[in-house]
Amino acid sequence: MNHKDRRKRRFVFRRCQEERRRMRQNNAVAVVIVLALSLVVVVSPRSVPSASGSADVGCAAAFIWPVRTSGSVDPPLARVFDNPAQPWLPGHRGVDIATGTGTQLVSPADGHIVFSGKVATKDVISIRHANGYTTTYEPSVSTLPKGAALRQGQEFGIVRGNSDHCDTTCLHWGMKTGDRSYRDPVHEVHKRRIALKPL
Ligand SMILES: [Zn+2]
Repeated sequence: MNHKDRRKRRFVFRRCQEERRRMRQNNAVAVVIVLALSLVVVVSPRSVPSASGSADVGCAAAFIWPVRTSGSVDPPLARVFDNPAQPWLPGHRGVDIATGTGTQLVSPADGHIVFSGKVATKDVISIRHANGYTTTYEPSVSTLPKGAALRQGQEFGIVRGNSDHCDTTCLHWGMKTGDRSYRDPVHEVHKRRIALKPL
């Protein structure tokens, strides 16, 4: 083998070494990409906070106050919820929001009006919500007909008329589940806030 052939062999050998190094680099990059994609596929369903967060919101009653409030401040309460141990015992099946005649009422969640009128001498509005809950307002009147659909936050009536314990100083806000058990509306409003807190 002459000098020229040896140079040629060295040149080819170096070219082959470079080619193998490039292939190893390309293979390493490919492995990293595949691993990264696998991690995205495996991890993303667990790492997206809204997947569980929105489910919580959906399970939660997702109510807002039926009177306008400033930010996240609760309206003043004249009387809190007091669920009796037995259905026939006295208690307070709702909360009394301290407010006066003429206060605008807004729907605390999507739903529709199922009753608007007199119950004995009391002026009452009832709303059935999409989650099966029913909320009641006393004293209150509405110009909307029975069956009117409401969006959360939509105005549906005002505080006015007769009540057996509120009249002109408060609004009694009652809340029942589908199986007719009473709930504390304050708890339901706060449950929504907890569900919507950023993770
Ligand atoms: Zn009351």
